[in-house]
Amino acid sequence: MNTLRGNILQQLKRVVIKVGSGVISTDDGLDGAMVTRLADDICELCARGIEVILVSSGAVSAGRNFLGIEGRPKTIPQKQAAAAIGQPRIMRAYKEVFERHERVAAQVLLTRDDLSNRRRYLNAHNTFDTLLEYGVTPIVNENDTVVVEEIRFGDNDNLSAQVASLMEADLLLILSDVDGFYDGDPSCNAGAQFVPLIEKVTPEVMAMAGTTRSTLGTGGMLTKLQAAQKAGLAGIPTLIVNGRSPSILRRVFEGEELGSLFLASASKLSARKRWIALTMLPSGKILLDGGAVRAVADSGKSLLPTGIVAVEGEFERGDAVHICDGNGVPFAIGVASYNHVELEQIKGHRCAEIEQILGYQYRDEAVYRDNLVLICDTAEEIEA
Ligand code: GLU
Repeated sequence: MNTLRGNILQQLKRVVIKVGSGVISTDDGLDGAMVTRLADDICELCARGIEVILVSSGAVSAGRNFLGIEGRPKTIPQKQAAAAIGQPRIMRAYKEVFERHERVAAQVLLTRDDLSNRRRYLNAHNTFDTLLEYGVTPIVNENDTVVVEEIRFGDNDNLSAQVASLMEADLLLILSDVDGFYDGDPSCNAGAQFVPLIEKVTPEVMAMAGTTRSTLGTGGMLTKLQAAQKAGLAGIPTLIVNGRSPSILRRVFEGEELGSLFLASASKLSARKRWIALTMLPSGKILLDGGAVRAVADSGKSLLPTGIVAVEGEFERGDAVHICDGNGVPFAIGVASYNHVELEQIKGHRCAEIEQILGYQYRDEAVYRDNLVLICDTAEEIEA
């Protein structure tokens, strides 16, 4: 077995497996045979002592036909209605297979709010923990029927990365309807090359993903890369494989070289920084000059108002913001010490001037270092 994969698989105790709509759906709805094969293999993994958390999409595609909708529903109420019909059907299909293996599956429906609120985040952790402790397999989906735009994960790729981080999984395994990651879009670029190993999800790698979306699911390769990036920050590698290939789970866990493996960052973030980077929803942008980009990215400094060239969006003190280079490309996420109106006033000014401008001062930093997480490692990488 190749050492990288071998090490990951040999040490694996807990895995989050995400299965996309394109894998478990047909044009007519839920692909029952596929669900059975997957659930059989998951039960086999559990029997070997591996803890599995399954993030399963497919609610909308399992329900839309009952509304007479062809293709993906267009309006949010249609999607929510389809999900309300499809979700219990998916759960019933899994439950029947799990019961044949004398195992119990549990439904966990989440909204982004459940994880971006720290107290509910910890509560969700305890619920997962208890289910796993009792040998129950959690089957997670977004609570599509009730979410509104502001509290949506939007796609299950990002949701699965957040669950993997929350539960400190050893691997995020994404079962997709494509073989893995290509350096271009294979559906319109015949020369696109398959990439079996990605050491880091850089902006360059992101740019290769293109914008193709899956026809049945919500995401495309871009949301999978975002998921791999998030999982990587949490110290978790991600493997993207084709979930429709025969016996895919068995073959992956036997160490067959399938799909694209994304390595985790060398240094795993602390629990609090993981929560900031992965689950807080940035509501604005702070753009920096070159010197400030280098100070924050290379020298591990806090972000001071003097290096800020622009403030975009509306946010309160304590909200998460994207910290960007001068072109607006994010390279870090942080918790703002001042709201957008205050930052607009103090941008470009020295710390000593803050009190004079605002009439008060919370602290010197616009974003304090302990509240800041880098997405890229170096200024050079940002400028590339
Ligand atoms: N939650 C959606 C569903 O169950 C899927 C979201 C996605 O495709 O990523 O249909």
